[in-house]
Amino acid sequence: MPTPGEFEIIERCFTRPCADQRVVVGIGDDAAIVAAEGPLAVAVDMLIAGTHFPQDLPAHAVGHRSLAVNLSDLAAVGATPRWATLALSLPTADTPWLDAFADGFFALADRSGVSLIGGDTTRGPLTITVQALGDAPARPLLRSGGQVGDCVFVSGTLGDSAAALEILQQTGGEPAAQADFAAQADALIERFSYPEPRIALGRSLAGIATAAIDVSDGLLADLGHLCEQSGCGAVLDLEQLPLSAAIRTLFAPDLVETFALAGGDDYELCFSCAADDVDRILAIAAETGTPVTAIGRLTEQRGIRGRRDGGAEFALAATGYVHF
Ligand code: ADP
Ligand code: MG
Repeated sequence: MPTPGEFEIIERCFTRPCADQRVVVGIGDDAAIVAAEGPLAVAVDMLIAGTHFPQDLPAHAVGHRSLAVNLSDLAAVGATPRWATLALSLPTADTPWLDAFADGFFALADRSGVSLIGGDTTRGPLTITVQALGDAPARPLLRSGGQVGDCVFVSGTLGDSAAALEILQQTGGEPAAQADFAAQADALIERFSYPEPRIALGRSLAGIATAAIDVSDGLLADLGHLCEQSGCGAVLDLEQLPLSAAIRTLFAPDLVETFALAGGDDYELCFSCAADDVDRILAIAAETGTPVTAIGRLTEQRGIRGRRDGGAEFALAATGYVHF
């Protein structure tokens, strides 16, 4: 097959029928046009190969991930995703890679109700920039609304992606040597490769949770941002941190706690709510099929502290993923 050019790539991989009536102009003209019906939530994230994901991560997972990280940002403000644009810098026109990338991207887009409406395709180091747009709720979830005394929740489990990266680095991507551990290692690598944006949870939390953030750089770093913008601190009950069976099987407890507190790439939602609303939060978790766990409280004292089994509080150093 001859190497496809820019327009063949766009046509072959990224131009699909669009069912969304609100897309007035999609791929193929100079700019996309959508019928926005109110406040629009907009998020953009750039993924650089070798920096934000391993160079050899399968293309299908890269496609999923590049959209998922943006949908997670929309979820964190309670928005409903609608549209995305995709800017691709590619070292070569590798058709099998692009086909698998597009399959991963569209599998998530289709089940999330997202239409790809435009983008840009150039030659250069492998870099994927996705912008996601969606309908923002009347009362968006912000980082700044937390109140002293609020309960702090997190969705899903923490630390799995950081643990997966550790496994990938140790094994060089080879399957785990011991068969009994292979299934657990695979479960963690799956979590890293296919983060699940918590869209339904975020939408339902809008108007009820007092503040929210998605955990992309590690719980301490991201809860730290929520606290700073809410003008408070937090205390975490460390024995409550939600941990997967896989991470507990494969890693020692102190390393597990480090992954859960400081590891990145979880793409879970961390949010606060008034103590009176805890039952409503648990009902939303059940309705949306999203596990949530109460992990602590917002406090007047600044900084993030931990305690074990209700014992003495101690400071937790906020070391998350540092971009520079
Ligand atoms: P222009 O030169 O006017 O910016 P391009 O030739 O770059 O337009 O792109 C042609 C059309 O294809 C545009 O509608 C653009 O949004 C779309 N497009 C380009 N690359 C992608 C991509 N990777 N994914 C989706 N749409 C793309
Ligand atoms: Mg262009």
